[in-house]
Amino acid sequence: MSIAVAPRFRAEDVLEQLHGGLIMLDARRQVLLWNAWVARCSRVPAAQALGTHFDACFDQPVSPALLRAIDSTLNYGLPAVLSSALHRSPLPLYPDHASAAGAARMVQSVVLTPFDNEEGERLCLMQISDASNSVRREKMLQSRSDVLKRQVATDGLTGIHNRRHFDEHYAQTLQRMGPTGGSLSLFMVDVDFFKQYNDYYGHGPGDQVLKRVAAALQAGLQRPGDLLARYGGEEFILLMEGLTPSQAAETAETLRESVLALAEPHAKSLVAHRVTISVGVCTRRIEGEADGRQLMATADAALYRAKLGGRNKVVATD
Ligand code: GH3
Ligand code: MG
Ligand code: MG
Repeated sequence: MSIAVAPRFRAEDVLEQLHGGLIMLDARRQVLLWNAWVARCSRVPAAQALGTHFDACFDQPVSPALLRAIDSTLNYGLPAVLSSALHRSPLPLYPDHASAAGAARMVQSVVLTPFDNEEGERLCLMQISDASNSVRREKMLQSRSDVLKRQVATDGLTGIHNRRHFDEHYAQTLQRMGPTGGSLSLFMVDVDFFKQYNDYYGHGPGDQVLKRVAAALQAGLQRPGDLLARYGGEEFILLMEGLTPSQAAETAETLRESVLALAEPHAKSLVAHRVTISVGVCTRRIEGEADGRQLMATADAALYRAKLGGRNKVVATD
C-alpha cells in the first residue's frame, strides 16, 4: 500500500482509530481484517475473529440479506449497500460504550466492495457505520412534518378541521364517487345573530362560544368518515356519506338541539335568549364535480331559507 504521507503516520493506526467498522473477508468468508471499532462493538476481539469463518465469529445471527450480499460480492464482484432503512441491524453490533446486557443492536449501514488483491484473489471489504444518529434525525423530522401537516389542516381557534382541509377532502370525495356515484349529505351551519353577540359580549367571549359550538357539533359525530370543518367566521360545514334525506334531516336537528343545549346566554338574540344555529342540509346522489358544486349551492340556499324562516331552524332538502 502506498500513501504519500506514509512517514508521518501508520495505516494500521488509521484502521485502529477509525470511527467505523472495517472487515475484510476472503473468498471462503474467512476474516482477514477486523478493526478495533468492530472488536469493540461486537465484543469479539480481533485475535478471536482473524482466520475464523465470518458466520462463526458471532454468537448471534447475522442477517441472511447480508450473507447473500457478501456472496454476490465475492462470486460476481458486485458492490452492495445495505441501508439502515431496509436492514436496520444486519450484524450483532452494539453502541460503542453501551453495556452488552440488554442493549439494543446498533442501527447500521453497511457497504460491501469487491476487492481484488495482487494475487488476483477476490476479497470482500465491508464498511460499517453507526446510523443511529441519522435514524434519530429522520424520526424527528418525520414527527415535525406530521405536526406541520396537522397544523395546516386545523383551525387555530376551534381545533377542528379548517376550510382548506375540507375543500381538499371534498374534492377527493367527489373524485372517488365519480365512477360509481354515491349519496352525500352536505350541512351548512351558521351561528345566529352572532354579530350582536360580539357587539354585546365582546370578541373574546365570542371566540369562546365558537369553540364550544365546534365541540358540540363534533361531539355529535360518531362515524370516522364524517368531516366537520370551520368554513368561515361563524360558519361550519359538515359532510356525511350514505344517509337518506330523512336521516340527514334528523342529524341536522340533533346538531341544532346540541347547540341549544349548551345554554349559552345570548341576551341580544331575537329568537331565543341563548346561542343558536341555523342549518341547511342537502342530500343527493353525486356522480362528479358538477353535482358537488350543485350540492353546495343547494345546501347554502337551504341555510338561507332557515335564516329567513326565523333562525334556530333546520331546512332539509334534496
Ligand atoms: P345571522 O343570524 O344572519 O347569521 O347574523 P350574524 O350576525 O350571525 O351574521 P353576520 O354575517 O352579520 O355576522 C357574523 C359575525 O361573526 C361578524 C363577526 O363579528 C363575527 N365573527 C366572525 N368571525 C369571528 C371570530 O373568529 N371570532 C368572533 N368572536 N367573532 C367572529
Ligand atoms: Mg355567517
Ligand atoms: Mg351568523
